[in-house]
Amino acid sequence: MNIIDIKCENVKRILGYLGRHPGITKRALTEATNLSFSTVSNLCNDMKDAGVLKEEKINDYSVGRNPSQLFFMADRFYAICMDVQGTQFFRVAVWDFSPQRLYESRVDIGGIRDAQELLSLMEELCASLAASPEFQKGAFVGIGISIDGIYDQGMKKIVGSSLPLLNGIPLAELLSARLKLPCFVDKASNFCAVSARQLHPDYNNILYLYGASTLDLGVICGGELFRGHRGFTAEIAHLPFGNPEIRCPVCGNYGCIENELSLSGMSRLSSPELTEEGRSMLLQDRGRCLGRLLSVLTSLFVPEAIFIGGSAFSCYDAVLPYAMEVVRQRCDSHLSGGLPIFHDPDSRRVIETGITQAVYASWNPLK
Ligand SMILES: [Zn+2]
Repeated sequence: MNIIDIKCENVKRILGYLGRHPGITKRALTEATNLSFSTVSNLCNDMKDAGVLKEEKINDYSVGRNPSQLFFMADRFYAICMDVQGTQFFRVAVWDFSPQRLYESRVDIGGIRDAQELLSLMEELCASLAASPEFQKGAFVGIGISIDGIYDQGMKKIVGSSLPLLNGIPLAELLSARLKLPCFVDKASNFCAVSARQLHPDYNNILYLYGASTLDLGVICGGELFRGHRGFTAEIAHLPFGNPEIRCPVCGNYGCIENELSLSGMSRLSSPELTEEGRSMLLQDRGRCLGRLLSVLTSLFVPEAIFIGGSAFSCYDAVLPYAMEVVRQRCDSHLSGGLPIFHDPDSRRVIETGITQAVYASWNPLK
């Protein structure tokens, strides 16, 4: 680790503590961060000059001195969050580091013909946000884009997105070069896993199963986001735990679990053509598919908690009993050991907070 990295890590340690304990003094910050007083004092002064911190005098002369309270100006720094799922539109939001969502909209991309056109649209959108009066008091720090494919970090390109024009494109590099801001591209489930870990810091081993236009898994292992070769993670969509008679339209094999548990498979439950009995049978089938998948993932990763989110699982409550029947049968020791399984009804928010966290993590406030 070089001097710049150490300085940045110390800055993040100070800001992290200050974010949770606004208004403390340099002396208290020194004790809490285990840094020297001169390091804390110098870094705080630099951050004050950069507009990252605010210092206010405490008017308490009874103690014979006049210390200052410090505040992290987290509402002055913004992340742009884009969520590209499917082929018709993407969602964009702006979050500050407090973290609060300040803006959201939906952008139609149904008529977009190629990647250059999409990049230009994203560039114009970011430029108009940067010019907007409501964001003039602060600064944009970075952009994160959640996709339903995989970002191949070795080849620096997207693969397997349901939006064909994105495949083969180094989206992060191209957009970053146009906007002169750091840009991160990752699959939605990874952003969700990072966010779940932030919300539940006691869990060091988390699985986040995300079902929308595709089926994906984000894994936190030993407190860190798990990544395999070239940045690929646990790619579960084409595991053969589905109906062996159904041919997968993506890979051409039979029995891929994504056909049952992504939005196209799960939305059949709300088909008006289904009879009551047909719906009941389909619920059981989907529940058991989910149960088989969760059993295998639990055995492989031995998580402390599992989160399930995404639009595909809006009927989670109805399929859960059938899923749990299978999980209990196959992984009873894990369940009786207290493995919690949570449904996350607002995974859009979780994706955005995960993106905001990725942008914050790479931010060097004193650069
Ligand atoms: Zn497949």
